[in-house]
Amino acid sequence: MSERIFNFSAGPATLPLEVLEEAKNDLLSYKGAGMSVMEMSHRSKDFDAIITEAEANFRKLLGISDDYAVLFLQGGASTQFAMIPMNLLGENETADYVDTGSWSAKAIKEAGLFGKVNIAGSSKENNYTMIPDGLSLTKEAAYTHITSNNTIAGTQYKSYPETKSPLIADMSSDILHKPVDVSKFGMIYAGAQKNLGPSGVTVVIIRKDLAEKTVRENPTMLKYSTHVSKGSMFNTPPCFPIYIVKLVTDWLIGLGGLNKMEEINKTKAEKLYTEIDGEFYKSPVREKDRSIMNVVWRLPSEDLEKEFIASALSEGLSGLKGHRSVGGIRASIYNSMPAQGIDKLTDFMKKFRSEKS
Ligand SMILES: *Cc1c(COP(=O)(O)O)cnc(C)c1O
Repeated sequence: MSERIFNFSAGPATLPLEVLEEAKNDLLSYKGAGMSVMEMSHRSKDFDAIITEAEANFRKLLGISDDYAVLFLQGGASTQFAMIPMNLLGENETADYVDTGSWSAKAIKEAGLFGKVNIAGSSKENNYTMIPDGLSLTKEAAYTHITSNNTIAGTQYKSYPETKSPLIADMSSDILHKPVDVSKFGMIYAGAQKNLGPSGVTVVIIRKDLAEKTVRENPTMLKYSTHVSKGSMFNTPPCFPIYIVKLVTDWLIGLGGLNKMEEINKTKAEKLYTEIDGEFYKSPVREKDRSIMNVVWRLPSEDLEKEFIASALSEGLSGLKGHRSVGGIRASIYNSMPAQGIDKLTDFMKKFRSEKS
């Protein structure tokens, strides 16, 4: 087997080695079933146990009450951009959106297809290098939508806004990175491929009364109520991705839960930001809004950035190229990135800096 490298890609992203090894061990015959999870009926006892435990793991890790449903859907976070206003925003209603980056902007575009959108705050003028300080919220908004972590810009909310209307958060790139009080939210959603598992499943945590809201006639598959009433089994769910998400959440529980995970994530990010905050590397992001999941920085020139990325790759550090829309360097250091990956990266950064400056 060829050696594994440290993969700093933004998504699909690295997974815990333990999870991959367990999946590998059970690949040909899942717990004596004589077949893999990919091949078994979603109505089988074995799969029922997998999806039930995956949901129970989320409830345990985040302390989610029975007022909320935990759904495993398809279509990615991008489908949620449309499904949210389709289900929750009437034609003459207004939803508040905070524009903190290109993912927010995509969500805003979809909402405009269904109702009125108020941009309650935006950091667009600042090239999305910060989280807006104050919001101008609508009096009777249908909901308020935020992007908790901006995967491309490298910004992150450290505390969430207080809103009268149900708060909805796209947590695609930071769900389960720390404890979150779910009762403060109407809905939380996340595509799995950043911090939860492989692509193909989208986790939706939605307050049950919101899931029942009907503002227009929608297709069966695009109604939250369908998936709540069928326990994500109205049709064939993405079985294998759900299975991996179950293993990842088992791993998180085994690690000591989200308090422990947050402590580890903070330590990892601090190490990296300490190296960035010198004369050579520079962070474009306002200090208090820096993401501890997607760390972005610049070098003195674009040529040096290219050289940095190529040279890092040759040492087994991959996926460090910034998003094509912003350039620079980005290290995605989600839950599954081990501390050794950060150590290897910061060692490389020190060496590169001393060679080039
Ligand atoms: C990656 C990402 C998305 C898009 O997710 P898909 O599952 O590919 O649709 C949406 N929001 C954020 C914050 C992301 O990081």
